[in-house]
Amino acid sequence: MNNFTYHNPTKLIFGEDTLTELPKLLNGKGKNILLVYGGGSIKQNGLYDNVLEQLKAMDAHVVELSGVEPNPRLTTVRKGIELVHAHGIDFILAVGGGSTIDCTKAIAVGAKSDADIWDIITKKKVAKGALPFGTVLTLAATGSEMNAGSVITNWQTNEKVGWGSPYSYPTFSILDPKHTFSVPKNQTIYGMVDIMSHALEHYFHHETTPLQDRMVEGILKTVVETAPRLLEDLENYEHRETILYAGTMALNGMVSMGYHGDWATHNLEHAVSAIHDIPHGGGLAILFPHWMEHVLDANIDRFKQLGLRVFDLEQGTESDRDFALRAIQTLRDFWTSIGAPSTLADYDIDASSIEDMADRTVQLSESFGSFKSLNRDDAVAIYKASL
Ligand code: NAP
Ligand code: FE
Repeated sequence: MNNFTYHNPTKLIFGEDTLTELPKLLNGKGKNILLVYGGGSIKQNGLYDNVLEQLKAMDAHVVELSGVEPNPRLTTVRKGIELVHAHGIDFILAVGGGSTIDCTKAIAVGAKSDADIWDIITKKKVAKGALPFGTVLTLAATGSEMNAGSVITNWQTNEKVGWGSPYSYPTFSILDPKHTFSVPKNQTIYGMVDIMSHALEHYFHHETTPLQDRMVEGILKTVVETAPRLLEDLENYEHRETILYAGTMALNGMVSMGYHGDWATHNLEHAVSAIHDIPHGGGLAILFPHWMEHVLDANIDRFKQLGLRVFDLEQGTESDRDFALRAIQTLRDFWTSIGAPSTLADYDIDASSIEDMADRTVQLSESFGSFKSLNRDDAVAIYKASL
């Protein structure tokens, strides 16, 4: 293991009817609140009314930024920063999924910085602070509710960039499994693929980390067991609760102490959605097994361990390499069985954009990934295999 320091300042409030904690959590944080949300799901499921009721009870002055896009856009971040300045906002409340939260992080940091937010996102400038913000999560997927990461798309340049800063942790996050009951089947599937992908991005490294391995495998196995049950019964509290908790644990730093994960597949996926605006989890389901097959020889044992411990496979007379390939195919089959896409053609993406996507994987750095360092040629090969 590498030396590490762990510090996660986000207060997590988890469970049924926990929205009632909101006034207490906002106490002393100022009365001018910017409420940030997406395309309207919170109006349809009643959460918007419930949040406003809580805010009214504490005499808050509420300004709204609605319409945050899935794959949130820089233009919306800029709108939010303008609202913060125009209304003297004290605190931002994000109510939604990862996109709403990621957008809020960029608004919070951008509002407290002299530098342009895109320069901070693209690492040309450093964040100097942030307006405090909290979240009410409505979709289990990104872990954004308890980490400092954010992913923003610039449609002027077709770049989708992940970034983070010590200031972009939420002050608090309220997670009520019931808030995720209305997530449609397809988004529920994408969310579960994203959660597993975060666990898998962690899994592929070269350190010796027995406890972290078991923790990551625990998340993967739990999602594999729960996913089919949840998809049969989308309003099952227990299954929503399990997946919601898994999503937070997969990317709040708890399972990644002492080593660096890989993250090449997220980089490959961001390049796809920067051009084609596809759901993040859908892109990951297509790309991850192909990344695995491409880098397999960097450490075959790691893939064997995945097969043995997560999918309970037994190795027969086949070679180690063939067994590892079977583990990868089992993952692909599992994702297909729950309804995730498996080829870029599922999103009508053909070979014509491969070069463009590959350019984007190396836009910020010539190489990417740490389990095996990849370059532009590797990206082309993985995209070709994914067609
Ligand atoms: P999302 O983009 O926030 O939401 C996807 C869709 O689900 C939206 O149409 C949204 O509708 C709907 N939705 C959300 N909650 C709902 C509910 N309770 N009921 C009904 N519909 C609901 O999805 P996400 O997967 O959480 O976030 C994806 C983004 O996060 C991508 O840009 C991805 O790259 C990024 N990401 C971030 C991190 C991180 O660590 N920060 C990690 C991985 C990925 P409304 O808009 O109408 O609410
Ligand atoms: Fe992700």
